[in-house]
Amino acid sequence: MKRGLYIGRFQPYHLGHQAVLQKIVEEVDEIVVGLGSAQASHTIENPFTAGERISMIWPALKCLDVACYVIPLEDMARNAVWVSHVKAMTPKFEVVYSNNPLVVQLFAEAGVEVRRPPMYRREVYSGTAIRRMMLAGDENWKRLVPFSVVSVIEEIDGVERLKNVSSGDEG
Ligand code: ATP
Ligand code: MG
Repeated sequence: MKRGLYIGRFQPYHLGHQAVLQKIVEEVDEIVVGLGSAQASHTIENPFTAGERISMIWPALKCLDVACYVIPLEDMARNAVWVSHVKAMTPKFEVVYSNNPLVVQLFAEAGVEVRRPPMYRREVYSGTAIRRMMLAGDENWKRLVPFSVVSVIEEIDGVERLKNVSSGDEG
């Protein structure tokens, strides 16, 4: 039994993430999705809560046809103990998939095997680009994410939230 850990903030989860997971299922028996910065929400970089992100991701993971866990991971003030924190929150995993330099560094130092998945059309599949499109009123962001993501964001009026938290305080 081999488990792979895939960590991201998923603000929001998009088809680049889905493409990575579709490759990961060929290499492992079960997938642990680590939902990073779980405590963060209602900001420009992190508009959605951990619970909302789980609701967006969960239906998309069903298509992968392997057992998946989604585990919220809060940030820690001390990077040096973050790997222990992640290990304490997740089922045992053998390999970590990430391109985030800090994540790669911390797991490598802890002696965990790290694989760096190739980027899938990063110029379009990027959380930052998608949030920018939402702010600009460009509806094409809906083509870049699984349907369940569109559905949850519409249900919570997420684009309006992002616009509101991005606007300055005039008081
Ligand atoms: P943001 O721009 O908000 O950082 P992001 O698209 O990088 O969003 P993250 O949640 O930060 O999304 O990414 C989680 C993991 O997925 C990271 O390791 C990141 O490098 C990777 N990733 C992001 N976009 C792609 C993509 N298009 N193809 C493959 N991997 C990706
Ligand atoms: Mg990123």
